[in-house]
Amino acid sequence: MSEECKACSSRTCSSAEKKPPMNAVPANHDDNSGVGKAMSGIRHKIVVLSGKGGVGKSTVAAALAWRFSANGHKVGLLDTDIHGPSIPVIFGLHDEKPAFENERIIPVEIGDLKIISTAFFLKSRTDSVIWRGPMKAGIIKQFLQDVEWGELDYLIIDSPPGTGDEPLSVCQMIPDADGAVVVTTPQNLSTADVHRSIDFCRKLKFPILGIVENMSGFICPHCGKNTEIFKTGGGRRMAELETVPFLGAIPMNLSLMASCDDGRGFAGMGADAAGVFDEIMGNLEKNIQKRRQQK
Ligand code: ADP
Repeated sequence: MSEECKACSSRTCSSAEKKPPMNAVPANHDDNSGVGKAMSGIRHKIVVLSGKGGVGKSTVAAALAWRFSANGHKVGLLDTDIHGPSIPVIFGLHDEKPAFENERIIPVEIGDLKIISTAFFLKSRTDSVIWRGPMKAGIIKQFLQDVEWGELDYLIIDSPPGTGDEPLSVCQMIPDADGAVVVTTPQNLSTADVHRSIDFCRKLKFPILGIVENMSGFICPHCGKNTEIFKTGGGRRMAELETVPFLGAIPMNLSLMASCDDGRGFAGMGADAAGVFDEIMGNLEKNIQKRRQQK
């Protein structure tokens, strides 16, 4: 019987010898020099955060990567959401496995977009990850230092939600990050968590590039009437209160949801949806430039 592949556990996997295991070993937070070296070809690193799950953080991260790429930039998308990796679902990449070359992980490519997700390293779609904090930090560090991104204009990092161990690892380990985009929905229950995300960034001295309000009203495709399902304006108010930039509001969009749910990504998105994300991308680019000039 042939040996079990260390990466996918299959005995029939043809590339067993080529795949080093993803090592769930505690990370050494003090030495991030390997991460800096591995990311030296990436001009801009943007972390997408949210105070809680389900507010559309992964959708926003994926959509920003899509728009940056559609606008001619070289883009990578790194999904570090260990317990709920959604990026492969959005792009229909469930069955993809990244290649390994010279002990480096080669991202999966869809069009010009390079993608790495925790999900690529799980045995199956329903496999759960049950690791303690230091192990998760170890995996995040491997993602940051062992992936062969090459030269990129933008790396968008979909962080786990909340203000716990994993977002802490992501923000602490990335050297020279441009900063965080914080995603929220408009209602008070969600915006209260934004305070925590902003406080988290401030305590870490991690720059805040701005707030995105997702699920901001719903325009009925039949009658055109706008219904404020989760109210609107909470994200903008929060940005004013916290004196951080407001990047834009994304309405609820049925075709966006269906397309991401079916794994079709954003290919069929009309000009309206693209326009909403382009406005956010434009504001983000302006804020990044402003911050660089202030340095
Ligand atoms: P999170 O990463 O914050 O947990 P997701 O990005 O996975 O959230 O989104 C949760 C669900 O909400 C998904 O089914 C996604 O397609 C849907 N969704 C996100 N944003 C929108 C939107 N603007 N309109 C419609 N559905 C959305």
